[in-house]
Amino acid sequence: MKNQRILFARTPSGLPVPEDFSSDEVAVPAPGDGQFLSRTIWLSLDPYYRNVMKGSQIYADRLKPGDPMVGETVAQVIESRHHGFEPGDYVAVRNGWQGYALSDGSGVRKLNPAQAPLSTALGVLGMPGLTGYAGLIYLGEPKPGQTVVVSAATGPVGSTAGQVARLVGARAVGIAGSDDKCRYAVDELGYATCVNYRNGELRAQLKAACPDGIDVYFDNVGGDTLAAVLANLALHARVVLCGMIEAYSMDKPPAGPFLGPIVGARATMKGLVVYDWVHKQPEFFRVVSNWIREGSFRYREDIADGLANAPGAFCRLMRGGNFGKALVRVAPESI
Ligand code: NAP
Repeated sequence: MKNQRILFARTPSGLPVPEDFSSDEVAVPAPGDGQFLSRTIWLSLDPYYRNVMKGSQIYADRLKPGDPMVGETVAQVIESRHHGFEPGDYVAVRNGWQGYALSDGSGVRKLNPAQAPLSTALGVLGMPGLTGYAGLIYLGEPKPGQTVVVSAATGPVGSTAGQVARLVGARAVGIAGSDDKCRYAVDELGYATCVNYRNGELRAQLKAACPDGIDVYFDNVGGDTLAAVLANLALHARVVLCGMIEAYSMDKPPAGPFLGPIVGARATMKGLVVYDWVHKQPEFFRVVSNWIREGSFRYREDIADGLANAPGAFCRLMRGGNFGKALVRVAPESI
């Protein structure tokens, strides 16, 4: 048995390209006392990996050229010398971009495949889902009838924030990068409307879509999109700063948006870090799993097959080419 690994080769210049990664095959490691070995089934592709690749200090991960890429995965335990885990257990674990990895069990969550499809532990019922749920409810504080605008509206974070907004009685308005995504946002996710920022000036499109102004903005993008929203805020608006994907592939931080409208609207801007909301995870699972079971909450996945295709799929994600939660199917769920 060989362990196929995708390695960090170099810090990308601008948007990542497949040459920023390399690969190798090494022997599968054996677990020591207190460890288990698992085989990776699903690899999550998340925009923050681009920040890790440039050495951003806000993440615990530090990569040197030749290190396996880091990342969240769903895996199955195949050998265990850890009293809490048995062969056959499915787990959410940070195996990174490799076929097999050892773990000492810290930060590992056991998964029940009968409760929800395993891949959802990386998307709608995982870190991105919790981000959209807790960020919108506790920082956005939407009220019934208010207008909630969400950018990257069909991604795992955005589709959660948008559907939560609808389900608490707010009017959800999406911003997305294609007509297909906008159609899906309205027809499947239940946004009241969705504007395609590639179809003309966003500021004017938002004014038409939100005639009474924007009460809550859940920002996944930053840059020009944030500036266009700020120009349309309602009085006492809340702006949840969740992600700035537009800036992740820039070598220098971009010039900031003009914040004058925040003053005029007496608005509040709040920064969101999902790890501050882990205590809300049980509530989030209960509420969102229930909505999924009832059929009032949908999700979509964008799946690449095989670890060798992970770099290409990640590069596509960072160009906005994904449509749904970006995942890599590394191996079959059962063997
Ligand atoms: P995602 O929505 O699948 O992210 C990719 C999407 O971003 C693209 O499909 C694209 O959708 C959109 N996008 C807009 N402008 C872009 C640009 N200039 N370049 C590339 N993509 C662009 O990913 P996600 O996992 O749900 O994450 C959404 C945001 O939340 C990211 O910024 C992420 O870093 C952030 N996040 C923050 C936390 C936290 O704790 N604060 C936790 C998780 C995620 P359109 O084509 O529709 O624009």
